[in-house]
Amino acid sequence: MIKQADPKANYLSHKNEIEQAIAIALEGGCYILGGEVRKFEEEFAGYIGVKYAIGVANGTEAVALAVMAGGIGPGDEVITVSHTAVATVAAIELAGGAPVLVDVDPETYTIDIREMEGALTQKTKAIIPVHLYGHPADMDKIIPFARERGLKVIEDSAQSHGALFSGKKTGSMGDMAAFSFYPTKNLGALGDGGIVVTDNGVLADKVRAAREYGWKERYVSASKGMNSRLDEIQAAILRVKLKYLDMENSRRIGIAAIYKEMLSGLDIVLPYEAPNVRHVYHQFVIRSKRREELRAFLSDNGIQTAIHYPVPVHLQPAYSGSARTGKSLKNTQKISGEILSLPIYPDMPEDNARRVAEKIREFYSRRS
Ligand SMILES: *Cc1c(COP(=O)(O)O)cnc(C)c1O
Repeated sequence: MIKQADPKANYLSHKNEIEQAIAIALEGGCYILGGEVRKFEEEFAGYIGVKYAIGVANGTEAVALAVMAGGIGPGDEVITVSHTAVATVAAIELAGGAPVLVDVDPETYTIDIREMEGALTQKTKAIIPVHLYGHPADMDKIIPFARERGLKVIEDSAQSHGALFSGKKTGSMGDMAAFSFYPTKNLGALGDGGIVVTDNGVLADKVRAAREYGWKERYVSASKGMNSRLDEIQAAILRVKLKYLDMENSRRIGIAAIYKEMLSGLDIVLPYEAPNVRHVYHQFVIRSKRREELRAFLSDNGIQTAIHYPVPVHLQPAYSGSARTGKSLKNTQKISGEILSLPIYPDMPEDNARRVAEKIREFYSRRS
């Protein structure tokens, strides 16, 4: 079977180094917020090109802690997209904010700039662009739009480790950014993990306090907080994997190039790549009018696919009654019925990508 993603293959490709790193962390004897977390925070901040990084328990809480640090509370509105992981929206509510869900651009699948204006109210406090599938949102439009109106920008970079927008890393352009290290992400732990990054020392201090009971010093809670710490063992694993991130992103880009070449000319929409970006292909998402049929055909041929995401957040049972939305979510609605995520992960043999592409060509030649 050709898997859609395979975090175990990535573990196996770094097995010795990871096991050594875990052993060193265990021998270190400090299991919470020790040297591994501190060093990983420094290394990750350096990689993104920001001053501060604060390791937290997962990507959802990374977004939530950034929203809290941004001073967003009850009644405050945060604009984001409906076409995203539910986690983005759950995080806004965890922090006490009210999500406002707008449409995406039909080419990049990231926030539609024109929809932001219509979603503004007196209560709007922040915008969370999601760099979905590894393609950066249009930060050249989002940042000035937010600055002019005094809004915070929090990048949801959970799918875009290493992606570039006009030469800048995603996560380095907003007031803050949140990353997830869920095992299948471009930089994945072997368990849960997340991080908040920022250039702003005041915001960094707020996140650092809030991840640990609001402590300013040990046992003194100057503010209110929670427990959302990055695990020492996961940090040790992430330090190993960070060294390979650029190389592994290049492998994803290589697989994407094979797909793009072999799938051109078919009745499917291939991923768009804006001229000023480095897309890191967290997912390779095509659109097909005959998605269900194509998906079943691939499955019958031992090829696993996925749908990110089959139900937009504004239509999920938990949100359909409550979340405020933009005027129109027509792109979101249309694409959710057509998108299909093909197998892609850094350790995937390129021959497997060719086999997937051949099977898709076969599907279209036989049944059109
Ligand atoms: C994975 C993901 C998250 C949440 O990360 P977790 O570590 O699973 O909590 C948030 N936003 C997006 C866009 C994601 O893909």
